[in-house]
Amino acid sequence: MYAPADGTDLWRLTLQHSPIGMALVGLDGQLLDVNRAFCDMLGHDPDTLTHRGFQELTHAEDLDADLELFGQAVAGEIDSYRLRKRYLHADGHVVWGDLSVALVRGPDGRPVHFISQILDITEQRRHEERLVEANALVEHERQTLEAIFDTVSVGLLLIGSDGRYERMNRRHREGMSAPFPDGHDGVAGQLGHVYFPDGKTLMSKEDMPSHRAVQGEEFDDYTYWVGDDPRTRLAYSTSARQVRGPAGERLGSALAYQEITDLMRAIQVQDEFVSSVSHELRTPLTSVLGYLELLCDHEGLPSEVTTQLRVVQRNALRLRTLLSDLLHVGQVGEDKLQLQCAPVDLAALVNEAVEATRPVAEKSGLTIEVETLDRPTAHVDAHRIRQVLDNLLSNAVKYGEAGGSVTVVLRDGAEAIELEVRDTGMGIAPEEVEHVFGRFFRGTEAQELHIPGTGLGLNIVGSIVAAHEGVVTVESEVGRGSTFRVALPRSCQAS
Ligand code: ADP
Repeated sequence: MYAPADGTDLWRLTLQHSPIGMALVGLDGQLLDVNRAFCDMLGHDPDTLTHRGFQELTHAEDLDADLELFGQAVAGEIDSYRLRKRYLHADGHVVWGDLSVALVRGPDGRPVHFISQILDITEQRRHEERLVEANALVEHERQTLEAIFDTVSVGLLLIGSDGRYERMNRRHREGMSAPFPDGHDGVAGQLGHVYFPDGKTLMSKEDMPSHRAVQGEEFDDYTYWVGDDPRTRLAYSTSARQVRGPAGERLGSALAYQEITDLMRAIQVQDEFVSSVSHELRTPLTSVLGYLELLCDHEGLPSEVTTQLRVVQRNALRLRTLLSDLLHVGQVGEDKLQLQCAPVDLAALVNEAVEATRPVAEKSGLTIEVETLDRPTAHVDAHRIRQVLDNLLSNAVKYGEAGGSVTVVLRDGAEAIELEVRDTGMGIAPEEVEHVFGRFFRGTEAQELHIPGTGLGLNIVGSIVAAHEGVVTVESEVGRGSTFRVALPRSCQAS
């Protein structure tokens, strides 16, 4: 083995036991001496390594760079260099080394050999490569999300927990000029040309979707109009969700704005159509019913003609009920549901409604009973509340099953008067429960079984209860029955 000129044991020991790979390299590139760490790194024993040139151990792609620097050092242009390069392990795999080379000169200043230190950085390189890959993946995801963010047809907005707008997509930015023609200062709750669905009432700060979201609310399908000019206004349906950090802390809110102008205009047209058709039909129908009444009372007609006239009369009366339901819905659409409130004995009203339903219930094989636990008087619109009772009772009978029962409960509750209509009928499918108060909604089973109806009854119930500032809810189980509960304030605010 080669020994340095002064041959001290101390030097050899240091070289051999260094935890970093070390080698003495001749001016021709041949390894003159190597330590254990370097042998371990490349999987060779010292004897195999010491008769090889570093060129043989270097990965072909890194050889030129190493030779270039090595040549400069031999030529005396540089005294040392550092290079990250790949070595070839005995078994063929690549080992990454961080190489530092220094030229050793003899006492006369002439180059004698090189001393090289090689730190195994394979693991570190692997981590770096993984990091580069991960960064590329993150960047790709970011670009994809960015592209989606900007191309979706929904306006998206992210608001910080302090109410400041943090990000919005192109769609949202473009949509802001209609409600805020003079610009927006980037803080939630700014007032603008934003109207409730009636198209007349301007929204206050508390009603603005962005403000509600910043207050921590989550909602779906919050609809309103934006824009000053009623002819060019746009309608939006907005949803909001809270954005939370890993520990559940609130970071802000995300809002999605869907433009639904065509849908809202179609609903308006439908309302206007329903309203005008029902108005137009009512007058001739009133005349038909008047003449039918006269005819039915006519004594000179053969009895079979009278029987047939009664059928016509029954159907004409059904038509009138249907028309008045349609008119009611039209009025609610135009925000014109007027209440005429006066003190009403609700127990008497309930009893009247139940007695009117009893014959139909009995014909369907149902028992009907009333539990008037209290005898409250309320300041309500008796005609409208009777309509609520009639609709709930007729549904309880219509969707009831022979042998079952219908129960009406009237309670003077702590907060409000409670009215309950309970049946033991077919019940409502869980996915349909939230829709039953919708206009023209009919349950799948009701349609499949051809149970007659228009899908307006519960909508009318909902609008009357809402006009009294009450609340109607439903609880139902398929095959076991439904319970509709109305909480009615003791005194309605309307005149
Ligand atoms: P209609 O009875 O004319 O269909 P409603 O507005 O009164 O319209 O009711 C809407 C839907 O709600 C019905 O089609 C039916 O599916 C469901 N429903 C209402 N009341 C009941 C009830 N008591 N039991 C079961 N389903 C009901």
